[in-house]
Amino acid sequence: MKVGIIGAMVEEVTPLIEAFRGLGCPTAQENLGGNTYYKISVGANEVYIAYSKIGKVHAAITASVMIAHFGCEKILFSGVAGGLAKDLKVGDLLIASKLCQHDVDISAFGHPLGFIPESATFIAADAELNALAHKVAKLIGKELREGVIASGDQFIASESKKAWIIKEFGADAVEMEGASVAVVCNAFGVPFCVFRSISDSADGSADVSFDEFLESAAKVSAQFTLQMLKALGYALEL
Ligand code: SAH
Repeated sequence: MKVGIIGAMVEEVTPLIEAFRGLGCPTAQENLGGNTYYKISVGANEVYIAYSKIGKVHAAITASVMIAHFGCEKILFSGVAGGLAKDLKVGDLLIASKLCQHDVDISAFGHPLGFIPESATFIAADAELNALAHKVAKLIGKELREGVIASGDQFIASESKKAWIIKEFGADAVEMEGASVAVVCNAFGVPFCVFRSISDSADGSADVSFDEFLESAAKVSAQFTLQMLKALGYALEL
């Protein structure tokens, strides 16, 4: 099996690459389209890991390359997000039920916010992968929330913008890549799921919180992603 794991920032993929090195897995790398793809062999299975750089366009490039060039059959996204739901705290782990692009607006033509003709406002993550994630969470005793993720090319750091995204999209968390990975995977018919650990609350102090908790939150998501791989049949001694 070939599984692709995408992060947006180097901090989000480093814990994964280090873990595989620590487990003695053979690692090769290839540069393509401005990104480095790590190819890691775990027995007969392979995992491809890359950070895309921030934002929906970059993440779409990486997801497309993972699928169309490297032949990844499933895509997992691992990273951090701003919490919108009141009870989401820094370090909490969330999996996307469905994802939308909060910065898409062609409402001047009568379309709903977030909607693109011939596409959809919301794209659901793969039900089987999400079910597996909940099974893994139960098995290792980790609390895992599921909710709507809104993505856009903006770092959300204000109460008013936060309230607007909650009102318009019913979102539980906000970030800058997930929905574009959803669009790509949906277009190619590749199952995907998105893990996000909360780094901030998308409010007036989001920038300070993000800087303080990026690394620890990224590790929470990365560690869970490794457990997912194990559940998918990768022989990992975790
Ligand atoms: N500090 C970085 C920029 C981080 S942008 C720099 O200076 O280069 C925020 C990243 O974390 C994005 O990849 C996004 O997916 C996620 N994220 C975390 N909190 C967010 C928030 N409040 N709004 C939007 N994206 C957020």
